[in-house]
Formats: sequence, C-alpha cells, structure tokens
Amino acid sequence: MKFLADRSLGRLSRWLRILGCDTAYWRAGADRAFLRAAEREGRVALTRRKDVLARQHPGVVLFVESDRVEDQIAEVLRTLNVKPDPGAFFTICLECNVTLGSVSKEDARSRVPDYVYQTQQEFRICPACRRVYWPGTHRARAMETLRRILKLDADGAKGRNGSEGKRVRGRGCPTFLPSNPLAFCFFRLRSLEGRP
Ligand SMILES: [Zn+2]
Repeated sequence: MKFLADRSLGRLSRWLRILGCDTAYWRAGADRAFLRAAEREGRVALTRRKDVLARQHPGVVLFVESDRVEDQIAEVLRTLNVKPDPGAFFTICLECNVTLGSVSKEDARSRVPDYVYQTQQEFRICPACRRVYWPGTHRARAMETLRRILKLDADGAKGRNGSEGKRVRGRGCPTFLPSNPLAFCFFRLRSLEGRP
C-alpha cells in the first residue's frame, strides 16, 4: 500500500517512511490535482481536509482525525489494516521516499562526521539525494516510539468515535505485507527533525 500525504501531514509521512511505507508528500494544496496524483500513482490519499472527502475520486481517501503524530500513525495503520514489516523499517530515505542502497565505508567517509566514520561500520545511501544513513543511537528512540504505537494497534485500540466508515472512502485495501530484501535498520535523527 502506497500513500500520498497532504502538506499538513509532513511528520506523519516521514514516520510512514521509517516504517518502510512508500509515502509521497504533496506540497501544494489538497485539491483536485492532489487526488489526481494519488489516483495516477495508485496511492491512498491521506488528508486532514474534510472537503477532500467530498470530491469525486475513484481511489481511497483517509481523513486523518488525530492531532499528534503518534496517534496519526496508529490511526492510519489501524484504519487501513496496514501490518508493518519490521524488516522494512529504516529502508527508505526520509527526505526523498526512495529505497536506500549500499555504500562502502570508504565511499561514505566524505559524507559523514568523523566520529561517525570512526565508530560505525555499515552505511546506506539514498540514490537520489546522496544522504548517508547509519544505525545511530537515535534509532533506539525511534524504535521505542514505534513499539509503543504498534502495541497500541495490536491491543485493538478503537477509533475514538467509531467514525472510520465516514473517514475512509473507497474500496477495501489489501493487507500490507512488504518484502524488502534491502531491509536494513538505519536511522538518522537529523532527518526526522526540521521541516515536515
Ligand atoms: Zn534522499
């Protein structure tokens, strides 16, 4: 399952990428072009604008109710029945939504701080923006957050007002079962901060 998040859901889109979900980010207004792009690319449209739900659209649109990003992640996973594969976590560039590739330690050297080069052995690189990722200490914090969120979902938490039927429009979605041979847990905190 692929997503297209509108510009009010920038942080959510980055977290979905951490989970290994192909999530494009729409920087313009959530208008007809937004839905056309979702349809063209076969993506579930994620929005916080209720008027988007009223528009004609042959695909799936989810109105995200939650304000906090942690709640938004749980909401998307629960409502669309997405089952994240831990093997796919940290395999996508948080900036570009592109699958990370291999890079040797030597080739990564000029792109990472000295202390990272000295202390880390494995690196991955984004083929689009050339950012280098490595398994930093911040990954544990992200994993802690994900475990908390996924546990919430596993416990069968319900939507706050049971309005999923009104928030989702479109046909049923298949269960999400990604299989990514490049699965590699990398995380760089700086990539999570800053702009949405
Ligand atoms: Zn990138």
